[in-house]
Amino acid sequence: MKRRNFLDQSTIGFAGLLISPNILCLNKKKNAVIDNKKFEPFAVSTWNVPMANNIAGNQLDNGANALDAAVKGVAYEEANILNTTVGKGGSPDRDGNVTLDACVMNHEGNCGAVLAVQNITHVAALAKEVMIQTPHVILAGEGARKFAINQGYIPENLLSDESKKAWEKWLKNKDFKVKINVENHDTIGMLCCDSAGNLSGACTTSGLAYKMPGRVGDSPIIGSGLFVDNSVGGAVATGLGEEVIKTVGSFLIVELMRQGRSPQEACEEAIQRILGKHKGKPDFQVAYLATNKKGDIGSYSIASGFSYTHYKNKINKNINSGSVY
Ligand code: ASP
Repeated sequence: MKRRNFLDQSTIGFAGLLISPNILCLNKKKNAVIDNKKFEPFAVSTWNVPMANNIAGNQLDNGANALDAAVKGVAYEEANILNTTVGKGGSPDRDGNVTLDACVMNHEGNCGAVLAVQNITHVAALAKEVMIQTPHVILAGEGARKFAINQGYIPENLLSDESKKAWEKWLKNKDFKVKINVENHDTIGMLCCDSAGNLSGACTTSGLAYKMPGRVGDSPIIGSGLFVDNSVGGAVATGLGEEVIKTVGSFLIVELMRQGRSPQEACEEAIQRILGKHKGKPDFQVAYLATNKKGDIGSYSIASGFSYTHYKNKINKNINSGSVY
């Protein structure tokens, strides 16, 4: 079953809006006015991922920090065997091996990533472990897998019966042309803001279906699939990773916001940078999602069909993105 068919398409809504206190108080010692603002947490994710985004939102409402909330949120889809684009059940490469990519970035500008990992489902959590437990930012392939096992992760077979059948069908024609097909482009990029007002993000994927063995896309590349600058905002990408990498898309969006663009304007400009390298309508999809520190959201894609899921004040809803075509 395709993800679009099995996920609940409806809005998950809850009553009871929270109003954040914005208290100005006098710091007697320093005799200065301090803004004790409590931020209203929010979570925003690429595509229609009500469960994952709701998990992150609830975590944030219960006081989790933004990084932990994002990692726990995306873990839902990593474990979802029916999702053929992320984690267990993801589409394999041309040789029939499922290889996963993920990265995380926190409000302090720290980050971790794992590339082309086999047999480990929760690669966003593993990327967080790389960030916290190692002196490195990126671990790839067998090194990442061994690190995971040392950290207590249980190796699993990630190739589901359904993904295996689809791969066997693909083998008959070996169509190498990348199509604009939401089922081939469904990386989860999630940005969270916690009640301390700190932003973090996670991005996790099985990458392009039937990619060449060893291929890594944008998703685990800091600055391409994900970038967070806690003084400005954050951005995530989905779609044809090669095109995102060439324009360092998520970093570009955050830098455009730093220069004063809104998240929407920044996403649109980043899409235009890609289109500027191609004549006419490209036959691939790229989509961006961004937030600034105020929680203003922007999203834009080349082709129609992209949407994102937004959680705030216990309301979790899927929103269609604007697109060029
Ligand atoms: N960006 C991912 C990649 O190129 C694919 C996707 O978004 O589904 O690996």
